[in-house]
Amino acid sequence: MNSYQYSNNVLHFDGVALPTLAQEYGTPLYVYSETALTTAFQSYEQAFAANQPLICYAVKANGNLNVLKHFAALGAGFDIVSGGELQRVLAAGGDASKVIFSGVGKSIDEIQLALQVGVKCFNVESLPELDRINAVAAELGMTAPISLRINPDVDAQTHPYISTGLKENKFGIAFVDAMGAYRHAAALPNLRIVGIDCHIGSQLIDLSPLAEALERLLVLVDQLAAEGIVLQHIDIGGGVGIVYNDEAQPDLQAYADTVARLLAGRPQHLVMEPGRSLVGNAGVLLTQVEFVKVGESKNFVIVDAAMNDLMRPALYQAYHAIAEVAPHADVPAVLADVVGPICETGDFLAKDRELAVVAGDLLAVKSAGAYAASMASNYNTRTRAAEVMVKAGAHRLIRRRETLSDLWKDEIL
Ligand SMILES: *Cc1c(COP(=O)(O)O)cnc(C)c1O
Repeated sequence: MNSYQYSNNVLHFDGVALPTLAQEYGTPLYVYSETALTTAFQSYEQAFAANQPLICYAVKANGNLNVLKHFAALGAGFDIVSGGELQRVLAAGGDASKVIFSGVGKSIDEIQLALQVGVKCFNVESLPELDRINAVAAELGMTAPISLRINPDVDAQTHPYISTGLKENKFGIAFVDAMGAYRHAAALPNLRIVGIDCHIGSQLIDLSPLAEALERLLVLVDQLAAEGIVLQHIDIGGGVGIVYNDEAQPDLQAYADTVARLLAGRPQHLVMEPGRSLVGNAGVLLTQVEFVKVGESKNFVIVDAAMNDLMRPALYQAYHAIAEVAPHADVPAVLADVVGPICETGDFLAKDRELAVVAGDLLAVKSAGAYAASMASNYNTRTRAAEVMVKAGAHRLIRRRETLSDLWKDEIL
């Protein structure tokens, strides 16, 4: 689905003219298309229909309550990595019994909360974490459902910062230690083993590493069954990559077909944890040009959005497509870096783009639905931008722009 459309030379997103939103809500502004969220979720449901999976949306990609509420209404579960994300899911009306709790450093308080509200399971990443969950559950007189996150030592072939399935990464239990860890878990009285999972990385375009990782998990599933430990679910981790630039569109159906073939005849229920691919291309960051700075060796388009609003270019050298909202016929294009006002050389949104813009123009930074607002900070005492949901020509504010007094309200003078 393409949410973007030029009409009368003005860029529309899910039927709403972007200048209308800039005028009403100001810039920088995150805009999400509810239609695109629905389409993305349903594309997973359809592709994986043979396995009837529980699709646990990875909250860290975009945790706005309205996004969570929308996915909950579509039947999603949630993948969380903190007690804060759990509270978000509950505040949005999500069902705790469909929540998977991931992450390498769960605190005692977080484990207590998750047990009390009844999450579906803990994805456990180490032996000491197994012991901690067992102890907390014992104190509460409960039994904790657990799955082990196995590190299959498969190269996801993605950016090193978003690759998580190699031996040298901090995530998961090493493949060679997996059976020992399951036996350890089986011996702990307040744990109940329910599953196995892996998550080898994000923004995968070539999906063969995902299939390879699942094949490795299934070896363990069979070994466990032989020892009398029969799992209830197999969790294949995060979703596929999205198109930011000129990447090939990952073949979701081919991946789903491979998963269906590998799981055929097995009793386990399929669980998955997509984040980026459910929200990434459902969002745009709308920003206004402050200045066009023409230099001797380099040109800069200085905009009012910055690395605090969209950290991915600075953090991962990530590419985001940028579109002129109301293109000019009479302005010459220049090759320029698109940069924000923050005092860091790393503060850029894009490098070397052909843009025909003047001060006051609007630019649409695409693919900003995932890991954008959720990674935003207040660096340089910048307030976090407002968020708007659009749907078929209608729009509504879903997060007010922060105010300066919000920023220092907890400081003690
Ligand atoms: C971040 C994360 C995800 C989501 O990954 P995407 O690539 O955004 O789909 C899923 N599971 C875990 C454990 C994660 O940390």
